[in-house]
Amino acid sequence: MASKRQIHVGALPIGGGAPVAVQTMTKTETANLTATMEQIRTVADAGADIVRVAVPREQDAEALKSIVAQSPIPVIADIHFNHTLALKAIEAGAHCVRLNPGNIGGPEKVAEVIELAKLRGTPLRVGVNSGSLPKHLRQMEYDNPVEALVTAAIETVELMERLDFTNFKVSMKSTSVPNTIASNRMLASRIPYPLHLGVTEAGTKWSGSLKSAVGLGTLLADGIGDTIRISLSTFHAEEEVKVAWEILKALKLRERGPVLIACPTCGRLQFDMDTVVVEVEQRLEAYEDPVEVSVLGCAVNGIGEARHADFGITGAKDMGMIYSKGEPLKKVPTERLVDELFKEIDRYYAAGRSVQRDEAAAAEARAWLAENEDATAMTPERIAALEAAAAQHDELAGEVLDSMLTPAGAGATTGVGAATGAAEGSDPAVGGANPVVGDGPVVLEEAVSPVAGRRFSRS
Ligand code: SF4
Repeated sequence: MASKRQIHVGALPIGGGAPVAVQTMTKTETANLTATMEQIRTVADAGADIVRVAVPREQDAEALKSIVAQSPIPVIADIHFNHTLALKAIEAGAHCVRLNPGNIGGPEKVAEVIELAKLRGTPLRVGVNSGSLPKHLRQMEYDNPVEALVTAAIETVELMERLDFTNFKVSMKSTSVPNTIASNRMLASRIPYPLHLGVTEAGTKWSGSLKSAVGLGTLLADGIGDTIRISLSTFHAEEEVKVAWEILKALKLRERGPVLIACPTCGRLQFDMDTVVVEVEQRLEAYEDPVEVSVLGCAVNGIGEARHADFGITGAKDMGMIYSKGEPLKKVPTERLVDELFKEIDRYYAAGRSVQRDEAAAAEARAWLAENEDATAMTPERIAALEAAAAQHDELAGEVLDSMLTPAGAGATTGVGAATGAAEGSDPAVGGANPVVGDGPVVLEEAVSPVAGRRFSRS
């Protein structure tokens, strides 16, 4: 269940229907202002909405004043154990303070922080971690870790409410993906406050991204979660941001920058698609609009499977085709495919996001497509045609059966043969499978992208 309440971290609305915010955390020594600000600017450029900085020492709390003043995005101070640092972070102007009320020295100290947060209008992120649950929940954690996490979170929420404080979001972290999903589902059904999601200590870029995509993606698809952080074991916090965006984009929750669709390639591939994909991805980085571009490895499937793409390219032999929304625009030699694709994209923007079609070029491309499609491929179009033919066949067969039972049905047999013949006759000629030369500006080595054993070569 989506959160009902909304808070603001700086000017950014969190919860209550606001877009899911992307959060990350700096990996620098916070008091090293130059390094920390450089990383904050990097993550902001990558699309972070909020950044969290660790505040384990006095000098870090001191640095917060400058960080808050210079940061292009709201800053959350991350505090553990020391309520004095929480007070200093609030005084330094942190846009939010993250703390675990269970580990900052007892109820009086929590109350002291809450009083100052109320006075300054500073929201808190209160949370619990599977690794640091209160003592009285240890046995429950052993018996039922999900219930233990949720109980700890609800106890924290009740503590905030007793202190007459509601300007907070809640996080509940576990290293277990199933427990993250189950506990957040349970908590979302019990409290109205915004939820911050993360799989804690998720791992390296590869495994951590996958765990996070599964755990957070499942919850986000249910409408649960108001901010997300992808925890990856890398200094480069911007990688966390990029993964977070890919998850949000995949779920169509938010849009940011182009969307690249690329097929995995298979034995039908007839051109050096690997280099083309790399070059397209690199060149798309210059665009901010959520234009959808597909790069698919064979002509027929390229059209059928990327009908929704704003622009797409596909190839066979020494030629390729550029299309838009499943309709051919033009055919071009493979080595010019990427340049011509970006020319079309730029024309589209120059014309106010309107695809520019040249009917003669489109007709030429259509003819090329018809000559080169693989007659053996079961494309969506071909499957639909076969199903339609089969349906017609069944219908006519039924009429034949009827005709055998009633004299009025005579002559339907001719129709059955005609329908089947039409379906078979609609398959075009098989295209050739000559090797293709791909020599764009991107050069991939054999070890990275082998051509041995595939249908194309680079030489
Ligand atoms: Fe294979 Fe063509 Fe599909 Fe790519 S688009 S995976 S080359 S069938």
